[in-house]
Parts: sequence; structure tokens; C-alpha cells
Amino acid sequence: PAAREYTGMVEDCCCDYETADAINEEVLHPILQELVTLPFFRYFKVKLWCDCPFWPDDGMCRLRDCSVCECPENEFPEPFRKPYSGLSPDSMICQEGKPQAAVDKTLDRKVFKGWIETDNPWTSDDETDNNEMTYVNLQLNPERYTGYTGDSARKIWDSIYKENCPKYPSEDLCHEKKALYKLISGLHSSISVHIAYDYLLDESTNKWGKNLPLLYDRVLNYSERVQNLYFTYLFVLRAVTKAADYLEQAEYNTGNPEDDLKTQSLVKQLLYNHKLRSACPLPFDEAKLWQGENGPELKQEIQKQFRNISAIMDCVGCEKCRLWGKVQVLGLGTALKILFSVGDSHLNQPLQLQRNEVIALFNLLNRLSESVKFVHEVIKEQSPSTVQK
Ligand code: FAD
Repeated sequence: PAAREYTGMVEDCCCDYETADAINEEVLHPILQELVTLPFFRYFKVKLWCDCPFWPDDGMCRLRDCSVCECPENEFPEPFRKPYSGLSPDSMICQEGKPQAAVDKTLDRKVFKGWIETDNPWTSDDETDNNEMTYVNLQLNPERYTGYTGDSARKIWDSIYKENCPKYPSEDLCHEKKALYKLISGLHSSISVHIAYDYLLDESTNKWGKNLPLLYDRVLNYSERVQNLYFTYLFVLRAVTKAADYLEQAEYNTGNPEDDLKTQSLVKQLLYNHKLRSACPLPFDEAKLWQGENGPELKQEIQKQFRNISAIMDCVGCEKCRLWGKVQVLGLGTALKILFSVGDSHLNQPLQLQRNEVIALFNLLNRLSESVKFVHEVIKEQSPSTVQK
């Protein structure tokens, strides 16, 4: 595809391709690459051994690379091991009606009130701590080619697309269903890009490297898949910037003050970056959705579909793919929660995120940012005329 195919606005977003690439290269990618290596963001809590609720397990994994190394107890940060020490959920609800709220308004200014266990209405996993959860060091388990393929992988994608987010017919004007489809397709593109970026080129010599034909076959030959990748990236970026006040105040405590200060400083650099804020102030406009008269019912329906997609991750028959599937679907569920489940006029819920949700959100944004960068570089190389522009 020529780079000129990707000029102008990213469909259904408020930012154009050139700007999306520029802010990625200059701001997001460098910051996120460093951020995800820091202890706060590299340990993800996950239940890996889960029974597929939909069909018998049919794991089809050829490579040793499929399995995940779990962290021994003493590796992940001490504060992650303790039960949540924040306030109880009751004390975090709006202070209205309590006499002290009328006097000291500053109490309400602190958006972040400590990490708590809170449900995400968009995902199926019960995130409360239990013995089945383990911590995984994401840095030791990179998302790349694993050899997971064939019927098992196909069945997962088929059931996601067919049952849960049917491809929209072009005359269907329902923006919300279209958005769900695009989010999943964009994530699928990103997974394919990572497979192509880090591929086992020669099994006998264990040589890894880029597989450009595969990148073309799976993503670049379909402009819609590239568009959806950019859509998902801008959607998640919007969620992160919308939650900026909360994320700025959150505690990035891992017991190592030096690392934690660095984490906080990088998060701030990302959230309040001048270039990012001025070039692309509103990457995606969530206010345009759910406006129709059946908005609330539609939201429930789509929420249920997304929860199903999240449950299907338990059926992914390769451990490492399941891990990254879970990280990224929780990241998307967190973005959906920030954009659509907070500030509802009738619910009036304050934003409350779990530590694991924030970890998933930033790791997802990092993955999308990596994919956008690689895709942009390859397309640019193929179209020398547009580089000179
Ligand atoms: P698939 O990627 O399986 O695609 C199936 C069909 O979906 C295609 O034929 C096409 O019709 C449609 N399609 C493809 N891309 C898009 C898109 N972007 N938008 C809309 N429709 C599309 N494999 C690894 O090697 N490493 C991993 O880390 C990994 N993680 C995975 C995580 C999950 C959650 C899942 C479900 C699978 C994962 N896989 C992973 C497997 C990988 O995604 C492919 O399924 C596998 O490589 C086989 O690819 P394929 O060519 O058959 O097409």
C-alpha cells in the first residue's frame, strides 16, 4: 500500500495519520518503551490456568515459546503482595451529604484514593486476589510468534467476529457496533504485526527476525486493518488522556523509591506532554456515541458482547498468547470503562481503577504504539516519493 492511502483523518477519529505518527514517534513510543520496563508496569496479575467456558481445551502450540514463566513470590514488588490498603469503597463514594464535604472542598480534589478492588463491567474476569492468580513479568514474556495456529486459533477469532462483534454491513449506521468491531480488528492487526515483527525465521538455527511477507499478508494488504489499528491506538490514547488527573495522582509504589519516582515522572510526561496535547487534543470523541434513544440498551448489549470476548480469552490454547490476549483485552476494557462507564449522568460514578487495569492499559497502549511505528516505517519505505514531501 502507498503511504498516500493513509493521509487525512483516521476514520471516526479526530486526528489525522500524519499527526498520529508524529506524536507516536516523538512522544508516546519513547516514553512508553521506558515505562513498561519499570517494575510497576512489568508485573501483571493473571489467572493463566482457566477452563474454557465455551468448548473443550484444544491447545495447539508447537513451540516451547508458548509457555509463560511465572514470577517466584520474591520477585514481584512487595506492595503488590499486600492486600489493598486504600480506603474502603464506602468511604470513597461521593462525600455529598456529609457535613464536612460542605466545608472542605479540597477533599474532593484528590481523584485517586488508593488502589482498590473494583469490578470492570466490560470484562469477565473476577479480579479479586485469590490463589489462582500469579504474577507474570511481561518483559520476560514478549508477545511474538509462538507457532499457535490452525483450527484452535481460527476458532477463537471466528467466534469473536461471528458471535460477538459481527462485521458491520456498510449500510448499518450504528456507530457503536462499528466501534466495537474496529477495536477488536485493530487489536487483531496489532497482534499480527507483533508476530511479523518478531518471527522464528529458521527453526534449525533459532534465527528470529522480521517477516515482511507475513506483515503484508495479514495486515498491510488490507487497508481496513491498518485503519482499524490506528483507530484502536487513538481510542486507547483518548482514554489515557481522559483519565489524566486520576493517573497522575495514582500511586506507582513498588517499594523502590528511585524506580517509583521515575515511573511517576514518565507518566506525567506522557499525560501532559505539550506536543501531544496541542497536536491531537481529542484523539477520539466518545461523546458522539450512545446518543440515540436506545443508547442505554445498546450499551448493555455491547458491554455483554465485550465481556464474552474477554471470557473467550480463557479458550486461547497457547499460554503466552492467552497472557497477552488477557492483558490487552483488559486494557481495552479499561479504556471502555474510562470512556463510557464513568460520569454517567444517572450513575454518577467516580473513576476507580484497579492497579492491574492501569498496568494493562499502558501495556496495551505500548503494544499499539509499537505496531503503529512498525507499520508506518514499512509503508514509508515502500513509498519513497512520500518521504520527500
Ligand atoms: P488469523 O490472524 O488467525 O485470522 C483469522 C481470520 O480473521 C483471517 O482469515 C481474516 O479473515 C480475519 N482477520 C485477520 N486479521 C484481521 C483484522 N485485523 N481485522 C479483521 N479481520 C481479520 N500467535 C502468535 O504467534 N503469537 C501470539 O502472541 C498470538 N497471540 C494471539 C492472541 C489471541 C487472543 C489469539 C486469538 C490468537 C493469537 N495468536 C498468536 C494466533 C494468531 O493471531 C493467528 O491466529 C495465527 O497466527 C494464524 O493466523 P492466520 O493467518 O490463520 O489468520
